Amino acid sequence: MADGGARELRFRYRCVRCGFEIDAGVGGARMALAARMLEGDGLAALAGGATLARAMGEATHLLRLAPCPRCGRRSRRALAAVAGGVAGALVLAGGGVVAGVVVGGLPGWGLAAVGALAALFVALRALAPLWRAPRSVVFDAPPQSSPS
Ligand SMILES: [Zn+2]
Repeated sequence: MADGGARELRFRYRCVRCGFEIDAGVGGARMALAARMLEGDGLAALAGGATLARAMGEATHLLRLAPCPRCGRRSRRALAAVAGGVAGALVLAGGGVVAGVVVGGLPGWGLAAVGALAALFVALRALAPLWRAPRSVVFDAPPQSSPS
């Protein structure tokens, strides 16, 4: 049952803060499927190009959010994108609560609560890559150019 297939998508990581460059792999179920599609696995290819595009987008997002192995910092733009997603969800929640109360009066609180929960879900989804990135992204061992 050894398939020997790829289990991660390979990328070239470049730190936007310190310029450090290194090869990295991004793992996860969707990444593994996309990697097999790229290898020409017919069965995996059945999943379709949309799956591949989503995996690529998710992988690059995770890669940008992974702390740099040299300076330990993350891309400010990637962090801003996460913050933007969370802020958008909070605005949505605020709007949902206001709309629910204005439209429905007191019974509108139920509607408002549903809206707030949905927004919370969106916010958590936007935040999730922050925790996932360090676990999903595996950097290759840096070249032993200058032993200390
Ligand atoms: Zn760096």
